[in-house]
Amino acid sequence: MAETGKRRISILGSTGSIGVNTLDVVSQLGGRDAFDVVAITGNANVTLLAEQAIACGAALAVTADDAHYDALKSALSGTGIEVAAGRAALIEAGARPSDLVMAAIVGTAGLAPTLAAAERGADIALANKECLVSAGELFVRAVTEGGGRLIPVDSEHSAIFQSLEDDQHHAVERIVLTASGGPFRTWSREEMAGVTAEVARAHPNWSMGLKISIGSASMFNKALEIIEAKHLFNIRPDQIEVIVHPQSIIHSMVGYQDGSVIAQLGSPDMRTAIGYALTYPERPKLNVERLDFAKLARLDFEAPDEVRFPALRLARTALERGGAQGAIMNAAEEMAFHAFCAGRIGFLTMADVVEDVMDAMMGHAATTMDAVFAADAEARRRADEIIDKRELAA
Ligand code: NAD
Ligand code: MG
Repeated sequence: MAETGKRRISILGSTGSIGVNTLDVVSQLGGRDAFDVVAITGNANVTLLAEQAIACGAALAVTADDAHYDALKSALSGTGIEVAAGRAALIEAGARPSDLVMAAIVGTAGLAPTLAAAERGADIALANKECLVSAGELFVRAVTEGGGRLIPVDSEHSAIFQSLEDDQHHAVERIVLTASGGPFRTWSREEMAGVTAEVARAHPNWSMGLKISIGSASMFNKALEIIEAKHLFNIRPDQIEVIVHPQSIIHSMVGYQDGSVIAQLGSPDMRTAIGYALTYPERPKLNVERLDFAKLARLDFEAPDEVRFPALRLARTALERGGAQGAIMNAAEEMAFHAFCAGRIGFLTMADVVEDVMDAMMGHAATTMDAVFAADAEARRRADEIIDKRELAA
């Protein structure tokens, strides 16, 4: 805590969907009376970043891209807010003393700054699942050795975290990750083959950033979440089930050895999970929509289809193979996602690219962060080559 008694918070990725919701929760919880905002970070959207910095009274505002330094500097001139840009500055934002860091950068770009926060012992509110997919054991170890707490923000993992009873870890039989099934839940592969990013990003229940929205359509997001769950809750892959639940009301569940299943439910609004992570173990009063069960009337479930959505199978393969396969899958998926959004490859080709890169890179270890970053870089190179070929073949 700061000398003022306020909680010191940094928000990595404040201009994104999770970041904006985090600042909303911060303001619902008392804003400047309750929090000292140490640092916020963004990328290209410096207008929003500057507005946020002024509104929340951040001490430091960082843009990830050097090219935006001047624009940010001039937007914040005369405010006394420190301005910085680039990779080292992002890491500095994570490393600066604070009590809690919201890790809400998208993709592997979030790994180094979040790791810096973990190593110095901050509590980590983790939205950036890529940290755990890429560097699972190493990241968890960094948090443990740093002495902070790791509190999931991903709605499914928050639900599991909330449904886990203290001291009953040994009695957990399984965890059940719910998946909405995305916009193509009922579509055939033939129908999915020709979709554009504009169509794929339209999520039926949640409003989210571009990458996770496309990942929900391909179920790569759920694939990453299987790996995230394995590392967060230290359970075997065969204890992790996925069930498609189109209404996104049950956010996930824990099954115990006595047959009980404990679930967490709520409206599809990330602010509940964000608020829980910001105030854990308290439950803050939040202005989010309450569930009206009579109106809901029903909750549906169906088994996931790993033929139409091969991402789920690839996550299981990555866990079986171990080593750097998580980092490789994550990096290849990021490349495939960018290529799909640029119209270079088709929707279904994303999984082919990821599978080819994973198969070509078996046996890479992930024993050090350097090894993880090297595997990530090589996976990107190989994905790029495969995308080039696939593009030409198209
Ligand atoms: P977003 O695209 O809306 O925002 C991403 C943030 O990261 C922005 O602040 C952006 O400026 C920043 N950023 C982008 N590229 C960067 C780079 N190269 N270097 C540094 N910063 C960069 O994404 P989002 O939907 O808010 O998701 C953020 C993370 O939270 C992801 O890991 C996602 O999987 C996870 N998550 C999001 C949701 C959701 O509802 N949006 C739910 C669960 C988990
Ligand atoms: Mg999720």
